[in-house]
Amino acid sequence: MSEPIKTLVTPVRLDYTITASSAQARFLRHVVEGRLVGERCPDCRKVYVPPRGACPTCAVPTRDEVVLSQRGTVTTFCVVNIPYEGRVLELPYVAASILLDGADIAIFHLIQEIPASGVRMGLRVEPVWAPPEARRPTLESILHFRPTGEPDAAFESFQEHL
Ligand SMILES: [Zn+2]
Repeated sequence: MSEPIKTLVTPVRLDYTITASSAQARFLRHVVEGRLVGERCPDCRKVYVPPRGACPTCAVPTRDEVVLSQRGTVTTFCVVNIPYEGRVLELPYVAASILLDGADIAIFHLIQEIPASGVRMGLRVEPVWAPPEARRPTLESILHFRPTGEPDAAFESFQEHL
């Protein structure tokens, strides 16, 4: 009697297109120009990046654009050690939540140009942009973030944004 089949490998592929909301479209047009622009809630003053078009807390439109600093702080992160199909990055690598200066919510991106073991909460980072001709309306126009060399941010400065 032969061994029972316990697993079956089946290739799966899903192609899809995302239609950007008007707020996302505004944000992505700035990304092509190498700018990170959030939107401020007129009531609670929180700055959302990428903007969602409205404040989820106050339920009011957020149309005031805020050009954000090209620097930020790693709030949380994870070290990826698991090989997977289609991976293009060398292991281990770090994906992190990055709170841009002036923003109230973090964006998620890669941290490079530092060993994974050196990444920590509070690390100050800056984006490394693709060359202008290679930029597209996607956060992939930022190749990764890298350390700025500034002293780490104090935990108290970002603890409300974890
Ligand atoms: Zn609000």
